[in-house]
Order: sequence, then structure tokens, then C-alpha cells
Amino acid sequence: MTRFRNTVNGQPRGGDQWIASLNPFDGEAWAEIPRGTAADADEAVTAAHKAFSSGPWPAMTATARGKLLRRFGDLILRDAEKLAAIEVRDNGKLYAEMLGQLRYIPEWFHYFGGLADKIEGGVLPMDKPEMFAFTKPEPLGVVVAITPWNSPLLLLAWKLAPALAAGCTVVIKPSEFTSCSTLALMELVAEAGFPPGVVNTVTGYGSEIGTALSEHPLVAKLAFTGGDATGTAVYSSAAKGLKHVTLELGGKSPNIIFDDARLEDAVKGAISGIFAASGQTCIAGSRLLVQRSVYEEVAQRVTAFAGTAQMGDPMLDTTQVGPITTVPQRDKVLSYIDMARQEGARCLLGGGRPSRPDLARGWFVEPTIFADVDNSMRIAREEVFGPVLSIIPFEDEDHAVEIANDTIYGLAAGVWTGSTRRAFLMADKLQAGTVWVNTYRAVSFMAPFGGYKKSGIGRESGQAAIREYLQTKTVWINLAEGVSNPFVLR
Ligand code: NDP
Repeated sequence: MTRFRNTVNGQPRGGDQWIASLNPFDGEAWAEIPRGTAADADEAVTAAHKAFSSGPWPAMTATARGKLLRRFGDLILRDAEKLAAIEVRDNGKLYAEMLGQLRYIPEWFHYFGGLADKIEGGVLPMDKPEMFAFTKPEPLGVVVAITPWNSPLLLLAWKLAPALAAGCTVVIKPSEFTSCSTLALMELVAEAGFPPGVVNTVTGYGSEIGTALSEHPLVAKLAFTGGDATGTAVYSSAAKGLKHVTLELGGKSPNIIFDDARLEDAVKGAISGIFAASGQTCIAGSRLLVQRSVYEEVAQRVTAFAGTAQMGDPMLDTTQVGPITTVPQRDKVLSYIDMARQEGARCLLGGGRPSRPDLARGWFVEPTIFADVDNSMRIAREEVFGPVLSIIPFEDEDHAVEIANDTIYGLAAGVWTGSTRRAFLMADKLQAGTVWVNTYRAVSFMAPFGGYKKSGIGRESGQAAIREYLQTKTVWINLAEGVSNPFVLR
């Protein structure tokens, strides 16, 4: 069995205890990761703080940092197949999906590598004579990046690239279900030439090392993606130490189909919104809002399309729906399916574990569709994070907006329409950090991503993301000789 080790201050670190990493397709243990302790967390943060405060990293120019990031991106591209295969063994998502992500991740390091030396301060116009003042962006310090199990390296890249470009140092805490690809990535951190201590890892259970990391006095910022309950705990920890945060906490995103849409495309958009990645994505379009006049037709077409989706080995090109990443998550999804039935939703497809013997050892849940869902039902209000679609009818634009915004979340929304007027109107009225029109599940290193309402705080990707890892220093230089009355504000 492969044993992956942590990296602290450039050195490999094992552990007294190990956690088995299980393959969601067959339930077999295939690798082990260290079960870190609070002492390990302290050591990793201390190493990151030392690397931030002294040695080659703070002395390095932003241009040199940018080159390191770009080299790192090139190395990830070189090893994309290897890293993607590790992710599939850990989280059970399709190899095609993970390879696509791995081949795209380098763009974040190229983009933020390019941005590293383009973040300028400014000379301030000054109302006081003989006073010169300017601003200077400076890195925040040690960043703890906490990542979930659904897309470990993509969601890490969204944090690591801007943090390093800004000049911060980082401690990564991946989900204990899917730590292996992050630990494998550390070989490339070293190969790219990052000085020891700039990027460190500590693996283990969130319940055992989460607080030690998020309340550590030497940590300046927490960058977290995960569930809203854990996100709230992380935010509370951050508040105790007045730390900066970026939180990305999932959603209950509406994917809205109007009767003037090209229904063939809209149906594919509905499928990609919920069944790609077995619904284990923060941007899942888990509420499909369909205009009443085309409701039955769309429900029938989405059901027919989803009914053809091939479940199977995620390594195979022919597979379209893989297993759920963890046993607790599979059980959570199944419990929501039961709940939807009890709430009176009409099950059009799926509704349980598949009966195929070749899938019996894997943690599969059938693509499941419920019609006649009311937005007040729990299946429409809570994040399921699985392949479960709720179809909700609406009458007109105002009604669609009312239902779409009637949620505690606000991560993303989709709109399918043939009308430009309607596209702009809906984009204005939807309370979501991302609105897609006639497309779904598109992300880019150039496009800010984050949540409204309880879907999170801050933005990842895009130029603004680097500012999330910087603070502004204002420098005043008195050019006059002598100091005036010390008892008066200058
Ligand atoms: P969590 O939100 O608990 O996990 C996210 C990360 O936080 C993991 O690395 C986890 O580590 C870590 N963590 C857990 N507890 C703490 C803590 N006290 N302090 C710091 N870090 C901590 O995800 P779950 O696996 O529990 O999933 C629960 C639900 O969250 C899912 O059903 C889904 O609805 C949602 N989710 C949303 C995601 C998104 O992309 N927005 C991604 C994943 C889940 P560890 O795993 O070791 O506990």
C-alpha cells in the first residue's frame, strides 16, 4: 500500500498513526496518510511563519516568485495524468473530469504568477504641504488552506496560487478522505524550487487538528472550502484571533428554464448541473426551476436523458456517473432521498442504491429526480451534495426570481432563455455570486467566484483574488524640517 507523507519545512513527515484512504469504487484501502496531531499542526504553522519572516522567500522579488509559480504550473501539467489518477482513487470522480481539472489547474499558477509583479501601490495626492505618502501592498502572512474532498487540487489551486503570488506562506489541511493528491503535489512544490517552509501540509481529522490550525496565533488568514456548518466553526475560530477569512460554503443553486429556451440545450444544462461529479459540487444546480408551460416536457426529457447515464468504474471513458466519495456522504444523500419521498415529492428516476452486482462494493447512488417539489420542502432547502435533482414549477419571471432567491444560499444560478432582455433582467435580480446564462458549471482563473448570503465570504480567482491575501500599508514621509505642535493632529 502506498504511504504518502506530509511535508513540513521541506522535510517529509510521517506519523505515529496512519489513516487509510479508501477507493470509493470498491471500498478498498489503497493508501495511507499520517494522522496528524495538534503538535504537528503547530510545527507546520511555525515552519510557515519562519519561512514568511526570514530566509529566501521574503527576500525574493515578486518577479522571481511569479517565475516559481509558472514553473510549478508547468510541472503540474507534466504530471496531470498521475495526479488525476490519484484523485480518482481517493474521491471516485470520473478520470475524465479529474484529468480535465488537472490540465486546467496550471492556468491558475500561470495567471497568478503573471499577476505577482503587477500589484501596485500608489502615490497619494496630499493635502498637507511637504508631506509625501504612498501605499504598499504587503502579504498577510501565514495562510491555512482547508480543502474539501470533492475537488481537492482544483480548490487548493484557487487558494495556493493567489496566496503564493502575494508572498504569503501556506499550511494546507486537505480532507482526510482525499489527502493523497495534495501530498503528491508537494514533490512538485520542491521540484519547482519553492524554499522550505513556504508550503507545508498537515493531514488528519478536522476534529483533531482543525482548531489547532485555525486558532493558531501565528496564522493570519484561513481560506476554507467546505460545508456551512464547518465553515461557521472556522469563522468563529478566525474571529477569536481576528484573522482574515475566505469562505466558500456551497449552495442550493437554482437552474431556471424558461419556455423560450432551446430546450435541448437546457436539458443538457440541467444534467450537467446536477449529475456531473455525481452532484458533489458546490455549484450543483440542485433546484431545477421550470416554467409551467414546459414543465412536464422538460421533466420527461431530463428524466429520459439521466436514465441513460452510465454508472461504473470512474477510470473508464464510458462511465458518466461515479460513486459518492465517502460512506457518510452516501448515507446522507440516501437519507435526503427518503425525506423527499416522505415530504410528498414525486420520484421520476432512481431513488436508491443501484442493484447491479458489479457496483455493489462501491458507494453509488442512482441519479435521482423528484418532480412536484415545493420550495419549502427540506429537499429544496438543504444542500444534499449528491445526484438528486428537485424540479420545481414556476409561472413567470417574478415567480422564478421569488423561488430562486428564497434560500439561505447564493453561490450560483443558471438561466436558460432565448431572450436577451430576460437574460439581463434575471442576471440583475438573482442573488448569487455567479449567474450563468445558457450555460452551467463554467469556471475560469479569470472569473471571480464566491457566494452571496450564506454561501460564503470573499472571492477566489480573478485579479481581485490576490487582494484577499494582501494588506495595505500607508507610508508617510515628512519632507519639512522640524515637527510642529505635538498636541495637534497633523
Ligand atoms: P467539511 O466542511 O466538514 O470539510 C471541509 C474541510 O474542513 C475538510 O478538510 C475537513 O477536514 C475540515 N474540517 C472539519 N472540521 C474542521 C474544523 N473544526 N476546523 C477546521 N477544519 C475542519 O465537509 P464534510 O465532509 O463534513 O461534508 C459535509 C457537507 O459539506 C457535505 O455534505 C456538503 O453538503 C458540504 N460540502 C461542501 C463543499 C463545497 O464545495 N462547498 C465541499 C464538501 C462538502 P476532515 O475531512 O478531516 O474533517
